[in-house]
Amino acid sequence: MEEIVSLKNYDYKETKNAVNLLCSKYSFLHCGLLGRSCLGRDIPYLKLGRQSEYVLFAASFHGSEHITTYILLRFLEELCVALKNDGYIAGLNAKKAFNGRALIVVPMVNPDGVEISIHGKKACGIMAEKIEKLCKSDYTHWNANARGVDINHNFPAGWHKLNELEKRAGIYGPAPTRFGGFSPLSEPESLSIAELCRVQKIRHAVAFHSQGEVIYWNYENYNPPRAQKMAEIMATSSGYALDVPLGLASGGGFKDWFISEFNRPAFTVEVGLGKNPLPLSQADNIYSNLKEMLMLSAIM
Ligand SMILES: [Zn+2]
Repeated sequence: MEEIVSLKNYDYKETKNAVNLLCSKYSFLHCGLLGRSCLGRDIPYLKLGRQSEYVLFAASFHGSEHITTYILLRFLEELCVALKNDGYIAGLNAKKAFNGRALIVVPMVNPDGVEISIHGKKACGIMAEKIEKLCKSDYTHWNANARGVDINHNFPAGWHKLNELEKRAGIYGPAPTRFGGFSPLSEPESLSIAELCRVQKIRHAVAFHSQGEVIYWNYENYNPPRAQKMAEIMATSSGYALDVPLGLASGGGFKDWFISEFNRPAFTVEVGLGKNPLPLSQADNIYSNLKEMLMLSAIM
């Protein structure tokens, strides 16, 4: 059987294409629009199964971390194939394991950021001049959205404290990375995924970033039920280490907000090891290391 998801850089066009093809091939998959980016690009989601609560997987919050989109699309396709053919993933019968579960995948939270990182100036639209100045023509390492706001610094969880830390690090306004915006949830990308979590009951959420082979699972003194046990299972099944974020990596992030808003587990998984953007040559290795963890996270 021909696979839809193949080893390549998943930019906006390839991602939309894969989402549409997966949806038309698998009748149990539903896709829709979470919202639109600053430059009007779609932020699609895919929904697998229908339940009163969902597990959420989301990738590419940061432009240069688009390898995470490939990882999630690849997993989703493999899960669909296994569900259709009564197959196994990581030794588990997908149908039996997934019984009573449902999954929402947001493969690209920040499509403008990904486009800027992959395609440079021609992806910047009306923001071209500003972005060129901000990144000094180094588009590849762009992480923010098209307005120079880092989506994962834009959530209302310790945002003011993080804002102070950004200023101390010399970040006062739009930048390729780590500027959290002028107010929390000021950006359509962060707002879109926050709205999804308010409308749907999300059992737990996993945000995929690169790199470091680590899993972050706590935020301040919140201790949602199941969180620690889940983190341990995720670490054991992937070989990744559990860690606690410090300084500018702490607060303002999606997982921080999710934990503090809902008191339910949320995780940041930093896939792979090296310098962003990670080379495609690493992608399949990352995926095989993570497959069991992805499956267990989807059904826990
Ligand atoms: Zn990131």
